[in-house]
Amino acid sequence: MDMERLLQDVADDVRQSLGTGKVADYIPALAQVPPNQFGLAIACLDGRHASVGDADQPFSIQSISKVFTLAMVLSGRGPLVWDRVGREPSGTPFNSIVQLEHESGVPRNPLINAGAIVVTDHLIGGSSADDAVDRLVAFMRARSGSNSIGVDQQVARSESETGSRNRSLAHFMASFSNLRNPVETVLSAYFRQCALALSCRQLAQAGLFLANKGRDPQTDEMVVAPDQCRRINAVMMTCGHYDGSGDFAFRVGFPGKSGVGGGILAIVPGEASIAVWSPRLNRSGTSWTGSQALERLAARTGWSVFG
Ligand code: GLN
Repeated sequence: MDMERLLQDVADDVRQSLGTGKVADYIPALAQVPPNQFGLAIACLDGRHASVGDADQPFSIQSISKVFTLAMVLSGRGPLVWDRVGREPSGTPFNSIVQLEHESGVPRNPLINAGAIVVTDHLIGGSSADDAVDRLVAFMRARSGSNSIGVDQQVARSESETGSRNRSLAHFMASFSNLRNPVETVLSAYFRQCALALSCRQLAQAGLFLANKGRDPQTDEMVVAPDQCRRINAVMMTCGHYDGSGDFAFRVGFPGKSGVGGGILAIVPGEASIAVWSPRLNRSGTSWTGSQALERLAARTGWSVFG
């Protein structure tokens, strides 16, 4: 398969949908991003790479960061985190608080905001927010093979200034003793992880270990054990797009994680890691054109975890 050709064909397939959907507008830094951009990059396990469009333009990865903090936690004192966060789809929006009361402050899964806040608390452990962010940035640089990756401080500040809902989630969990560090410590790391900026090319490379049973093919490092890798892919499949997760599984058929910056990371186990970015979102907060592109890519390649 000619990968450059494949991506070009997919880009042509979705060009007409670029005006559909709405850019995230809760912070100016996201609201001001030119909305009709589109980038797509693929990194294959056999070493092939390809990209098309705005694939070198860094964007705010937002909730895609939840996959990487989960991987870091599962590679360390991992299994313990499952006492504090579940692995069921929520069927609710990313920042919903309703289930937390019924379920005693234990979030449904690590890929909704509440669950990711718990994972970040776990990542901080007995260290500091700055230390956790430093470790995350180092992890992303190692995975992507790019030392230029970092936190967009302006986005991070705005996240904090508009973070009332995330503060509510965190305080609510703290009231059930499901946070070990102070709320502001945890959120200071969480807001910065959301503000990590990567391009599609960097993100596709960074996700490759998830297509390779946990081993980074670039560095040959075992990032997470194979069984943990399967679990990360399983939660991405079932929970990666909030209340749109079922539709994404139905239409695309492999694990993915979206962020409100318009990026999606998708993993085809044994084959490839794919990153797509286009800022306009659907109602669940997933890139409209990005998910269309992945659907077209799945159709053109026949890739699916469902056979
Ligand atoms: N920064 C956003 C938040 O925490 C991330 C949400 C998302 O990408 N779905 O609310």
